[in-house]
Amino acid sequence: MDLELSREDIAFRDGVREVFTREIPEDIRRRNALSRTTHDDIVTTQRILNAHGLAVPHWPVAWGGKGWTPTQSHIYASELQRNSVPQPLAFNVSMVGPIIAEFGSEEQKRQFLPATANLDIWWSQGFSEPEAGSDLASLRTTARREGDVYVLNGQKTWTTLGQYGDWMFVLARTDPDAPRKQQGLSFLLLDMTTPGIERRPITLVDGSEEVNEFFFDNVRVPVENLVGEENKGWSYAKFLLGNERNGIAQVGTSQRVFADLAEAAAGIPTESGTLADDPQFRTSMHSARTTLLALEATQLRVTGASENGQASPVSSLLKMEGTKALQELSKLRMRAAGDDSMLLPPDGDAGESLHADDAATIAAAQYLNQRKLSIFGGSNEIQRGVIAKTILGL
Ligand SMILES: Cc1cc2nc3c(=O)[nH]c(=O)nc-3n(C[C@H](O)[C@H](O)[C@H](O)COP(=O)(O)OP(=O)(O)OC[C@H]3O[C@@H](n4cnc5c(N)ncnc54)[C@H](O)[C@@H]3O)c2cc1C
Repeated sequence: MDLELSREDIAFRDGVREVFTREIPEDIRRRNALSRTTHDDIVTTQRILNAHGLAVPHWPVAWGGKGWTPTQSHIYASELQRNSVPQPLAFNVSMVGPIIAEFGSEEQKRQFLPATANLDIWWSQGFSEPEAGSDLASLRTTARREGDVYVLNGQKTWTTLGQYGDWMFVLARTDPDAPRKQQGLSFLLLDMTTPGIERRPITLVDGSEEVNEFFFDNVRVPVENLVGEENKGWSYAKFLLGNERNGIAQVGTSQRVFADLAEAAAGIPTESGTLADDPQFRTSMHSARTTLLALEATQLRVTGASENGQASPVSSLLKMEGTKALQELSKLRMRAAGDDSMLLPPDGDAGESLHADDAATIAAAQYLNQRKLSIFGGSNEIQRGVIAKTILGL
C-alpha cells in the first residue's frame, strides 16, 4: 500500500525510519501503539526528535524547519505514525509554534520557539467554551486592557492535557463592541502559574482524564504576550485550525492499524477457517484498504497545496475522511478482539507491562476514546460546511 517513490525519496524514507526505530525506545513505541503513551514518553520522544532536527521540520528554516518537499513532509509524517512514534505535541508544533513564527514579535520568537520545539514548554489550547465550540467566534472570555496588562475573565473547556500545560494560548474577546463577533478577538499567551486560574478535570467515556475545564478570575496577562495585532485573533485562529485539522487525520496510524489487524485476523480461528476468510470481515478490510489508498493520495495533495504554513482547504476533507477511517478500523479491531474486548484493561501503570496481546483488552477503550476524533478540531459536520463553501463554492 505504498505510493511509488523516487530513489531519493526512498533514501529519505529509510533515513527517517532508521532514526525513528533506532533512537526512539521500543517500549515507548509499544505503549504508543496501544494508546498508553505517558507524559514522559511524549517529552522524551520530542526531545530526541528535536536533537535530530526532526521535531519541527515544517517550521521556517530559521527556527528549525527543513524546507522539505511535500513528498518528504508526507513521508516523515507517515513514517512517524507507521512506526508508532509518539507525535510531537500538536499544540506546540502544529498550532502555537507556526503562529508565533508567522505573526509573533522577534522577542516572542526568541523566548518561545526553541523551548516550544524542544517541549521545554508544554502548551495547551484555550479556544473552546461552553456554547462556543463549533461556533467558536461566540466565545465570551474577556481580556480587558488595563495599562500594561490584559485582565482575563471567563471559562475554557475540553482543554486536552491541560493538566500538564505550562502555558496556554487563549482566544479572548478584547472588543465586546465590535460589529461582528469574529472581530474583537485576540490571541494571548498565558503563563499557567499566573494567579487566578482554576483547573477542573473532566472524565471521558473510556475513564481517562485527558481533558479539563479552566476558569479565569481576573488573571493578569502582560500586554507583551499578545500575539500579532489586538482584535485580529480570529485570522490567527483560522490559520491554526487548518493545521490542526491536517494533523488529526493520521493516515499513517490507520495504515499501521490496518496491517496489524490483517496479521491478527489471519491467526484468529473461526468455525470455517480464520477471521481473515470471513466474507463480512474481508469486505470491510477491502473497503478500508481502498479508503486508505485514497487518503494517502489526499494527504499528499494537502501537503503539496499548503503554502507558508497555511493548510489547504482540502485539509477539511482529509480530517473528515481520515477520522472516519480510524473510527471504522477501531470497530474492526473490536470485531477481531471478540469477547476479549469486553475485558477490563490492565490497571495503574499498565503501560509499563503491556504486551501486544493486550491489544484485545484495550480495543473497547480505544473504540470509545476515538469517538472524539469526529468532534474535536471542528466536528465533521462543520468540515462538511467548510468543504461546501471553500471547495465546492456553494
Ligand atoms: C476529547 C476532546 C478534546 C478537545 N480538546 C480541545 C482542546 O484542547 N482545546 C479546545 O479549545 N477545544 C477542544 N475540544 C473542543 C472541540 O473543538 C469542540 O468540542 C468541538 O468544536 C465541538 O464543539 P461543541 O462540543 O461545543 O459541540 P457543539 O458545537 O455544541 O455541536 C453539537 C453538535 O451539533 C453539530 N453542529 C453544530 N453546529 C453545526 C452546524 N453549523 N452545522 C451542522 N452541524 C452543527 C456538531 O457537529 C455536533 O454534532 C475538544 C473536544 C473533545 C471532545
